Amino acid sequence: MNLAKVRNIGISAHIDSGKTTLSERILFYAGRIHKIEDVRGGGDGATMDHMELEKERGITITSAATSLEWNGNKINLIDTPGHVDFTVEVERSLRVLDGAILVLCSVGGVQSQSMTVDRQMKRYNVPRLAFINKMDRTGSNPFSVVDQVRKKLGADAVLFQLPIGKEDNFKGVVDLVAMKAYYNEGDNGETIRVEEIPADLKEQAEEYRHAMLEALSMYDDSMMEKMLGEEEITAEQIHKTTRHAVINCAFTPVFMGSAFKNKSVQPLLDAVNLYLPSPNEVTNSGNDPKEEGKRMKLQPDPTKPLVAMGFKITDDEYGQLTYTRIYQGKVEKGGTYYNQRSGKKERFSRLVRMHSNKREEIDAAEAGDIIAVMGIDCASGDTYCSEPNYCSLENIFVADPVIKMS
Ligand code: GDP
Repeated sequence: MNLAKVRNIGISAHIDSGKTTLSERILFYAGRIHKIEDVRGGGDGATMDHMELEKERGITITSAATSLEWNGNKINLIDTPGHVDFTVEVERSLRVLDGAILVLCSVGGVQSQSMTVDRQMKRYNVPRLAFINKMDRTGSNPFSVVDQVRKKLGADAVLFQLPIGKEDNFKGVVDLVAMKAYYNEGDNGETIRVEEIPADLKEQAEEYRHAMLEALSMYDDSMMEKMLGEEEITAEQIHKTTRHAVINCAFTPVFMGSAFKNKSVQPLLDAVNLYLPSPNEVTNSGNDPKEEGKRMKLQPDPTKPLVAMGFKITDDEYGQLTYTRIYQGKVEKGGTYYNQRSGKKERFSRLVRMHSNKREEIDAAEAGDIIAVMGIDCASGDTYCSEPNYCSLENIFVADPVIKMS
């Protein structure tokens, strides 16, 4: 598995900001859901009956982790309980993430739960992007939302896009890196049409691009020199510097769109690939049970002994599933692994990967991945290793530092 092409991410939001709608759209664009309709009214396709729709919707939401593909990368989307401040459940789900999208409402801005989830993410060093949703709503103001992200969350947040059109007339976005205009096309906005920036937005786009580059040059001396020398800065350099600053949890690029109106969700997925870390760009460690207080650094290397954590157990029509993140080593179908808490040996007879409403049976999975194990007897938070008494991941309330990039 090419770890550089894996993203383990979560979506956090204040209730009602559109986390569910955005997740559905992401799954839809990645080809996992083929028809979409808002069950609360407003959608367009009448192609599915209500039961089918409820089923699909329900599964999308309850699935603790779902895998999708975007432009050659595998994205594991992990459900994060965002509204409770500090619980073992939150701790576990945040440990499993390598990065996150913070969804904000374009009218409500930074609300109480946005502050809670942001605090959690800081505690666990989760790099993040922000997405201002509901750009079609009356009273939407992305500029004020970015100000709030800076003031209320203390983040170095910068707009990477500008809106084209306002409220009901929100049409698309200007990408300040490519300096192009992006519009969605098709009944569900399946395709992106790229055009020149509308003439009346050019000046504003130049101004905001300059602000974006100024902010980024604080993380990149060569960019700073180019800025001072008024030299051209390539998209490649912008991506690289942004990635570096985001992964170090120093910087929050801000995107915008309307999940409900199928606008500008794909550029957000591009940003996930471009700016959020892969599993080999974050550090994870566990407790060494042989020595009190000693931490062991885990390596996302399939040839090392297995260290995996069952972070969520669900029991539904599919039977019992233990959603598992593999931090080191490899899990194989039919393999026997040691529960580090109970000391018992457990056979992993069936492994699955969840794709919203579908299960894919798999034979093996490697470090960096998230899968589900069927029918094993364990408790949420249990660590499994290929060796007895090897490592424990539970009760680690300290965040691991993100690797510093050179
Ligand atoms: P969650 O609580 O964060 O999961 O939010 P939901 O996805 O359930 O959305 C809450 C409400 O906002 C629903 O009625 C959605 O249809 C609506 N909604 C979601 N995204 C948008 C959007 O982009 N624009 C508008 N106008 N409404 C939206």
